[in-house]
Amino acid sequence: MNFDKIHISLKKNMLNFSRGVIFMCLVVNKGLKLELLPSKSMIQVLEQNIGNARFIWNNILGIYCDLYELFKFHGCPLSPTINNLNAILKMLKQENSFLYDGESTSQQQVFRDLNKAFTKLFKEKHGFPKFKSKKNPKQSFRIQKNGNNIKITNRRIRLAKLGYVHYRTSSKYKKLLKNSKINNVTVKRENGKYYAIVNITTTVEELEKTGKHIGIDLGLKNLATLSTGQEIVNLDLTHEEEMIHKYQRKLNRQKYMSNNYKKTLQKYYKWLNRKNNKIQNAYHQLSKYLVRNYDIIAMEDLNIKGMFKNKKWAPKLQRISLYKLVKMIKYKAEWYKKTFIQIDRFYPSSQLCNNCGYQKHDLTLGIREWTCPVCKTKHNRDINASKNILQKAIQENIVNS
Ligand SMILES: [Zn+2]
Repeated sequence: MNFDKIHISLKKNMLNFSRGVIFMCLVVNKGLKLELLPSKSMIQVLEQNIGNARFIWNNILGIYCDLYELFKFHGCPLSPTINNLNAILKMLKQENSFLYDGESTSQQQVFRDLNKAFTKLFKEKHGFPKFKSKKNPKQSFRIQKNGNNIKITNRRIRLAKLGYVHYRTSSKYKKLLKNSKINNVTVKRENGKYYAIVNITTTVEELEKTGKHIGIDLGLKNLATLSTGQEIVNLDLTHEEEMIHKYQRKLNRQKYMSNNYKKTLQKYYKWLNRKNNKIQNAYHQLSKYLVRNYDIIAMEDLNIKGMFKNKKWAPKLQRISLYKLVKMIKYKAEWYKKTFIQIDRFYPSSQLCNNCGYQKHDLTLGIREWTCPVCKTKHNRDINASKNILQKAIQENIVNS
């Protein structure tokens, strides 16, 4: 099965919706992506704010790191509080007057984000927050909604002190923007384009319960194998990747930021965006399909970070960026009140015979098909694994509820 086929069944399923049944409305937060069309002077303003946000992040982080080391030396690591960080921001502003020109809620947002990163560090043992590099092709800042500081008309979005910017988006999103509560806006530069991600609170209609459950084995050979036996093939991104590499090589030969370099950069970004959009669309379709058709969706808790350390797996995994798909399924399941379960990644889902429970300890990665020596069932490795994942998840779900 490929994504096209999933698309078709998705439409069929929508037609099957029985009319007259009233579904509950569920309140959710959504991020809507608008493409900004800034003028040259507006680009300057946006860049100024992106730079400020990065400056504040890096400087607070730097000062905080020094303090952290100092306090640690005295035996009591300094836990960050909003007050601590706010004091550091005030000090920074006094020393760097250009910060007064920026949008103030976006500056406060930086230390709120930083505070969150530190809380994660202390509570969940997350990694230490990283310094932001100017060279990163993704740069952003966020504006919190505060009174009338954010306003969106049919064609333009007003971003606080920064003024109005034209934007482009679908009519579906325009309608949503008109009728929803706006929480915040993240302005992002990504691959040469500017976007506003508008976070809104809206409602979605509850999806009909289907009584069906599904186990998913995420893999390398196929993107995913479902416990129904369906195989979802990886996207073919060969052409996009060839073009990306072609322009990357060209950029390496050209003089940095010369006119020709800039022209090539545009082409390079174009193909990067094409590739990302293709992945994004396919993942949206697949996650929608799963959430619409199944009440329990089960999957392994992948140690994606660990996999990246394995050199052989890294390039493929990077390409298919599985974590994005997992995240999408997770939040859509949450929206529509479906159950998403991730089972322990050490559960031997590939080795167990789904029919009799026999464990084949010597199953290596290369074996795609095997026959159970006890009950003689023939197994496709991935389908068997996805069935086991589903079974395990249902057991856990019963225990927990
Ligand atoms: Zn068996």
